[in-house]
Amino acid sequence: MGLASGSPTVDQGLKSELEKEGVVLTTLEQLYNWGRRSSIWPLQFGLACCAIEMIATACARYDIARFGAELFRPSPRQADLMIVAGTVTKKMTPQVVRLYNQMAEPKYVITMGACSIAGGPFKEGYNVLQGIDRFIPVDVHIPGCPPRPEALLDGLMKLQKKIDGQSIESAEWYQQGQKREFPIPAFGPKGLEPPYNPEVWKPREYEQKKQTEAEARKIHGTIHDPKQSAVSQ
Ligand code: SF4
Repeated sequence: MGLASGSPTVDQGLKSELEKEGVVLTTLEQLYNWGRRSSIWPLQFGLACCAIEMIATACARYDIARFGAELFRPSPRQADLMIVAGTVTKKMTPQVVRLYNQMAEPKYVITMGACSIAGGPFKEGYNVLQGIDRFIPVDVHIPGCPPRPEALLDGLMKLQKKIDGQSIESAEWYQQGQKREFPIPAFGPKGLEPPYNPEVWKPREYEQKKQTEAEARKIHGTIHDPKQSAVSQ
């Protein structure tokens, strides 16, 4: 077993001969990642209808235990994966971010369904967050309304691939000064404050709109609102 990352320099012919005799050569990194990818324990919580599909994934027909991910943990301290399954309301967002912060490293996030990705059918709703990736980093997005259990299993396999490609030396949770806890927004009468975390979410359009508004304020003192102008005319 090699300690260094990457493939050990072993003749492939010799390697296959050894494998026939029951001797397996690997690196510490591959072994470490294999252990992690085969025991991804999700956090046991759901937010709306997508959670029913998540529950179905854990039942016998789909058997998520094949991936070692059947142990849904009731405590964030024992969970590796947060599956955000369902509509994230603004009122619920602080709790979701708090749970994420309480999870131990290394931790991952899957957004399951259109609601948790971008608000889904409720995206125009005053009370619905338009995507949890405004506050916490997301590793895999699973579209659909709702996505079927097969889609969740596919997302899980995508996450396993990501874990396979991670290196002990460069994994972000081992780096000094890397911030892996995020500010919890406050929910008030005007919604969430702040409305997003700029460390996590940097949409170009949002930034451009803010810049245009700031420039308009400098020139006119107030923002020109075409709807209000139309009403007053
Ligand atoms: S994406 Fe569809 S099924 Fe999932 S929580 Fe939203 S409305 Fe429900």
